[in-house]
Amino acid sequence: MRPARALIDLQALRHNYQLARDVAGAKALAVIKADAYGHGAVRCAQALEEQADGFAVACIEEALQLREAGIRAPILLLEGFFEAEELALIEQHDLWCVVHAQWQIEAIERTAVGKPLTLWLKMDSGMHRVGLEPAEYQAAYRRLLASGKVGKIVLMSHFARADELDCPRSEEQLAVFEQARQGLAAEISLRNSPAVLGWPSIPSDWVRPGIMLYGATPFEQEQALAARLQPVMTLESKIISVRELPAGEPVGYGARFVTERPTRVGVVAMGYADGYPRHAPTGTPVSIDGRPSRLIGRVSMDMLTVDLSDLPQAGLGSRVELWGRQVLASDVAIRAGSIPYQLFCNLRRVPLLYSGG
Ligand SMILES: *Cc1c(COP(=O)(O)O)cnc(C)c1O
Repeated sequence: MRPARALIDLQALRHNYQLARDVAGAKALAVIKADAYGHGAVRCAQALEEQADGFAVACIEEALQLREAGIRAPILLLEGFFEAEELALIEQHDLWCVVHAQWQIEAIERTAVGKPLTLWLKMDSGMHRVGLEPAEYQAAYRRLLASGKVGKIVLMSHFARADELDCPRSEEQLAVFEQARQGLAAEISLRNSPAVLGWPSIPSDWVRPGIMLYGATPFEQEQALAARLQPVMTLESKIISVRELPAGEPVGYGARFVTERPTRVGVVAMGYADGYPRHAPTGTPVSIDGRPSRLIGRVSMDMLTVDLSDLPQAGLGSRVELWGRQVLASDVAIRAGSIPYQLFCNLRRVPLLYSGG
């Protein structure tokens, strides 16, 4: 059996969720969209269900997968509905729903619902992607209340630059939000992971942690609270071949690495078809039998190469951690010009093996 696999530590997931809730002092929707950022949404939801105030996913397809697996906790659809026909399913499966556009409000007004809906009314406070304009927000809120279809409305917005700790943009967005929601007696939800960890003064009745649940920092620089996260995923494989090369020999596609000295090259069963980033350059950290080493040469589809020259005890069958507790996914991501979000979401082909459930 090919040794590439991703170990998922559900105990670490629960630790990180608890940290989010504790530092925020708020209710927390665990964001498990995109198959829990590649960690397996159903298993993650099951592991968190006793503890979590609810879950958030991107769309109804993701929510139904959770309901079919028996998850009964609240589930919020972060992109709302794409077609009015989804409202029947939203009601039937007791889903919470973001409303971010006028046409959705009109669709709700036209729809016959038996039970009152729980809606999260999204304002565009400066991200400029989706959400109602601040100037139309109060009217939208009143219109939804007047529709008679609504039980509860949570006021929400989303930050564009909360991961930049010295950037004033989040506070500017907060000011826009506060101004536009004046006088509305409703709960609010603003903070994603970087805002939970890095912006303690921003209020929220509900926080929406995603990446931090999986133990990866959303910041490029060191941050005290982020250092308390526990990596949930360990992506690992084994050395399946060893080459002893003299100086001056090229390794792999495109000869992107040429040995500078006699070099022991280890070949690892892991490649970009597994989701390891093809753009990770020579020097990207890996851990071999618990010791630090580095990627050399180009990542290929099913294999990559590492430097064993300083690890004489390592060889065929040695365990290689591509990311996890010794090599942080966020560090690999920076080397590869990416973010840990994308690394996790790109994971494929490797089996997910769970512990701590
Ligand atoms: C994905 C998402 C989140 C979670 O963001 P993280 O940075 O992963 O914490 C929160 N809110 C909304 C609206 C999202 O789409």
